[in-house]
Amino acid sequence: MSYQTTIGRPAEAEGIGLHTGARARLRLVPAPADTGIVFRRTDLDNFAIEADGRNVARVSYATSLMKKGVWISTTEHLLAALYSYGIDNVYADLDAIEVPIFDGSAGPFVELLERAGIRKLRRRRKYMKVLRPLEVAEKDRRIGIYPADEFRVRCLVDYPHALVGRQEIELRVGRTTFRHVLAPARTFCFTHEIEPLRAMGLIRGGSLENAIVMTADGIMNGPLRFPDEFGRHKTLDLIGDLALVGRPLLAHVIAHKAGHALHTQLVTRLLADPSLWTETTAAEAGAPLAAPEALPASD
Ligand SMILES: [Zn+2]
Repeated sequence: MSYQTTIGRPAEAEGIGLHTGARARLRLVPAPADTGIVFRRTDLDNFAIEADGRNVARVSYATSLMKKGVWISTTEHLLAALYSYGIDNVYADLDAIEVPIFDGSAGPFVELLERAGIRKLRRRRKYMKVLRPLEVAEKDRRIGIYPADEFRVRCLVDYPHALVGRQEIELRVGRTTFRHVLAPARTFCFTHEIEPLRAMGLIRGGSLENAIVMTADGIMNGPLRFPDEFGRHKTLDLIGDLALVGRPLLAHVIAHKAGHALHTQLVTRLLADPSLWTETTAAEAGAPLAAPEALPASD
């Protein structure tokens, strides 16, 4: 039997946003059962925006949430960490529009969660168990979700670059795999993308400290943390977007050269069609997320 969780105690960190360049303070605060993951803009009277597919706004180079004209940008790395750690309920308080990018990986969010600890709540966790496949495609990019007894992802990237090429990651999503396999993998971009992105008003906070920058045939700020750091990072992004389902998944997700736009389309269509899934508290067939019992007690 699996129970809902929150964090054991508040934890906070400060950094700049990748796209806005604005300094922001992120504070994670424990929340009661059935709250879900809720962002609060502390600079706007604690205006709350649920991390939920219904609040997905603009997705291009990052995923943004919007509710009644209030935004939270670049949510995917934080949400990937919370979702993989099996944190069902938490307030993510932010005093600016964009979640800090830190070093471009999810490592700093994992450190926050390790400091905060995990606390088991008394209410049962509600899983979304996928019953029928759903696929979304756009030219050669595609993503599908299929029935499974645990939460698995497979993510393939394919860039025509000597250091990238074809990379594929497949794993069962959980605390240990996330912490060791995915969290350290950093955001990347190609030098030819930098000027167009700047012209769009994006990556104002981008630097060699928070993204891997690839030149035509090499890397500007090596070394890589893993030879397949790109595939690992895209897997992290995928999980962060799937978190917008709003509850733990029992499903196998396969992404082939997908990106934020396709990830969030899948989430939106899944939420819109309840005949594709059922809500269940029983997940004995496979422990899909980090088992709270195995974590250090924090209360
Ligand atoms: Zn990313």
